[in-house]
Amino acid sequence: MFNTLSDRLTSVLQNLRGKGRLSEADIDATAREIRVALLEADVALPVVRTFIASIKERAKGSEVSQALNPAQQVVKIVNEELVGILGGETRRLNLAKNPPTVIMLAGLQGAGKTTLAGKLAKWLRGQGHTPMLVACDLQRPNAVTQLQVVGERAGVPVFAPEPGNGVGDPVEVARRGIEEAKRAQHDVVVVDTAGRLGVDEEMMRQAIDIRAAVQPDEVLFVVDAMIGQDAVNTATAFSEGVGFTGVVLTKLDGDARGGAALSVREVTGQPILFASNGEKLEDFDVFHPDRMASRILG
Ligand code: GDP
Repeated sequence: MFNTLSDRLTSVLQNLRGKGRLSEADIDATAREIRVALLEADVALPVVRTFIASIKERAKGSEVSQALNPAQQVVKIVNEELVGILGGETRRLNLAKNPPTVIMLAGLQGAGKTTLAGKLAKWLRGQGHTPMLVACDLQRPNAVTQLQVVGERAGVPVFAPEPGNGVGDPVEVARRGIEEAKRAQHDVVVVDTAGRLGVDEEMMRQAIDIRAAVQPDEVLFVVDAMIGQDAVNTATAFSEGVGFTGVVLTKLDGDARGGAALSVREVTGQPILFASNGEKLEDFDVFHPDRMASRILG
């Protein structure tokens, strides 16, 4: 993941090593190369602009450390700015004071929501919670069965509409799911919702209705990192539509460029909470901006 960006940034910064002093021209040249590397990594243009402006300003400014030579100083600045655009501090999941905590998943079809529901459930169990999943994706054939399968693998119960029990409305399923979680004393409920292949008014309306009905503590926007710049457009549409409180990046294992990871926080203003990097339930972790920045800088 991120090999090209990582290699390029490392080599750009390596070129500075051995220089006793950095001239303005050195800094400008370095900033230009970083800009190209970020654009080639498919990072959104406004994000690149802000990033480069900060690097230049800080590198040319009076941030001179006694302990570091100028090249190390630039590396430090680039690292800190990367951590910044990735969100700064690790953002923890918001838990309700009065359980159950309700987590709603939203995103396009194929983004990895159902898989994520299982990953999240497994992770939550590991944290000592007693999660339950609710199957509100009644759109995609097999989505309910798929959620039941991942629920079983994760060892958590799944609330799903039974054939013939008259529940064909995802909003009603969500409501009943929360009631069931309260009754059975689950402390976290993860609500899987329907996506479409592209942003679609009906899908957004349904997500808005589910959000209004269940009043989630977190709405997690799930986005496939492999779609690059499109991740930013999709994120903007969901942000303006249903709205969300956090982002989950999926398929980071297949994202060779890193554009989505580096853009989505800055563009939407919402933090990345988790990252998925494979199809298995354990290919999942809390997202740490500092660790990701270190990985990018090699
Ligand atoms: P949904 O339509 O949003 O519920 O998406 P799914 O959970 O069905 O995922 C769509 C496809 O992406 C499935 O084939 C998953 O196995 C796969 N998938 C999900 N997360 C990841 C991931 O982090 N990495 C990889 N490589 N594949 C993933």
